[in-house]
Amino acid sequence: MAKICLLLRMGPHRILLDCGLENIAPLLAERDAPLPADLVLCTHAHPDHAKGLLSLHYAFPQLPIYASEVTTELLPLNWPKEAKVPQFCQALPWRSPVEFREGLSAELIPAGHLPGAAALLLTYTTKKRAYTVFYTGDFLLSNSRLVDGLPLEDLRGLKPDVLIVEGSYGTARFSHRRQQENLLAERIYRAIAEGQSVLLPTPTLGLGQELLMLLRSHHHFTGRDLDIWVDGTVASGCDIYLSMLSHFPSAVQNFARHQPLFWDERIRPRVRRFASLTPAEVSSQLGNSASIVLTNQDADLSQYCCSDTTSWLLLLPQQPGRLGSVERAVMQMLESTPALQAQIQAGRFTVENYLLSDHCDGAGTTQLIHNLRPQHVVFIHGSSAYLNDLTSLEELQNRYHLHTPSLGAQVALPIGETFLQPAAPEARYEGEIIEMDTAVLISLPNAIVTDPRWQEIADTGLVEARWQGEELVLRGISQRELLSQSAEAPMPTNVECCQNCIHCRGQRCWNQASPMFGFRVSLDGYCPVFEGIPNSEN
Ligand SMILES: [Zn+2]
Ligand SMILES: [Zn+2]
Repeated sequence: MAKICLLLRMGPHRILLDCGLENIAPLLAERDAPLPADLVLCTHAHPDHAKGLLSLHYAFPQLPIYASEVTTELLPLNWPKEAKVPQFCQALPWRSPVEFREGLSAELIPAGHLPGAAALLLTYTTKKRAYTVFYTGDFLLSNSRLVDGLPLEDLRGLKPDVLIVEGSYGTARFSHRRQQENLLAERIYRAIAEGQSVLLPTPTLGLGQELLMLLRSHHHFTGRDLDIWVDGTVASGCDIYLSMLSHFPSAVQNFARHQPLFWDERIRPRVRRFASLTPAEVSSQLGNSASIVLTNQDADLSQYCCSDTTSWLLLLPQQPGRLGSVERAVMQMLESTPALQAQIQAGRFTVENYLLSDHCDGAGTTQLIHNLRPQHVVFIHGSSAYLNDLTSLEELQNRYHLHTPSLGAQVALPIGETFLQPAAPEARYEGEIIEMDTAVLISLPNAIVTDPRWQEIADTGLVEARWQGEELVLRGISQRELLSQSAEAPMPTNVECCQNCIHCRGQRCWNQASPMFGFRVSLDGYCPVFEGIPNSEN
């Protein structure tokens, strides 16, 4: 996993953005200042952004470290072996710029992805002008079960000088998150129906809790007589989520008013702590009926699969850009566990992948860029192939200065005073077609209504469609057009206009060579392929 640690200089200020380094030696090396930075901002509690913070704090206790309140609570899970993690991280409020040093302020903006995850808007103000940097951290535009997506609407036209954006998924395209959830729920449902137990190893924070919430609220599972066992650091993550409920989306808080979010022995499907079981109970509970186990991905999985009467479906999260690495590690681990070898040979283990994305896909990333409209775009946090895919996009190359800095390299980002902010490209809308007995429905995302041109097309509620080569073109019929069509006076017969064209029948154009083909035309209309009605008197 790529680890993130960025040193940003704005004027005299040095800001460390995240510190996912397991070994902070590069930050201890020769410096011309007593501290490696003036302050540290941490976007979220995932280890690839936070693992090095504790060593950094021990090495430089006077170095201030900040994050959102939820992140400060989640951070200690990164050091499970530490008896007591000191409270070294200070909580910052959402959406309210804080001035840390003279002229330097930062604002936290919810970034989706993980509860507490923040994007950062940094502003450095001089007498001449203000310089702004927007750093996304890890982000997701769609809402997940336990965290709302990044509020793109609020940021439209922000025009930061520099945008530092993660490119974890490159230009890959994924289906909508709801579809991904349904696919996964479907697969788990099928396994359970066939008597298979399901083992879900996940990272400590984020995915595991999302899966639990999905299983708790998806119609495939609600009311089912089923045990979901949660173990390891995933269970510790659940406990911290529960202690911070007031920070969660209101839908989650509502849910929690009616039934416990996680630990629940009463309402089906039950959610229970695996750690509460004695070894004897483990084999009786997990050996007798199909159940679901959620645990951290580095746990010893053999402790759940010890019974030789159950067959298991092992579901591993797909990580685009790092295909196969997790599967290989898990399979190696399973195959090297003597207790499981017989079961693997007996075919009682199936391993499959699923996708429940917590980063933006290519479409989401470009959408963010076009909405913010920065001068410079710096891509980080993806395989070099994926980042290259992004910088090769013509729609980005034409509009922004693109950068993919290599590890340890310094990038200068000159800010042009006269930089012309490029216009955002035409939005494209993807829809769905539903064929019915007597009609065809085309549904489009309702974001389309925010375009000022929509009013015109929706004016009368009537549209016309026609083929243009392979493409179907839709056109709205305006009020004016409807009125004028009925009130039109006939034209003199010697004028080159639709009324006098052989291809005009029933006030429609039937000339396939005409751009108006198939459309209702106005009688005084004209097009280059006009053909006069042969005069019978000649
Ligand atoms: Zn993350
Ligand atoms: Zn990350």
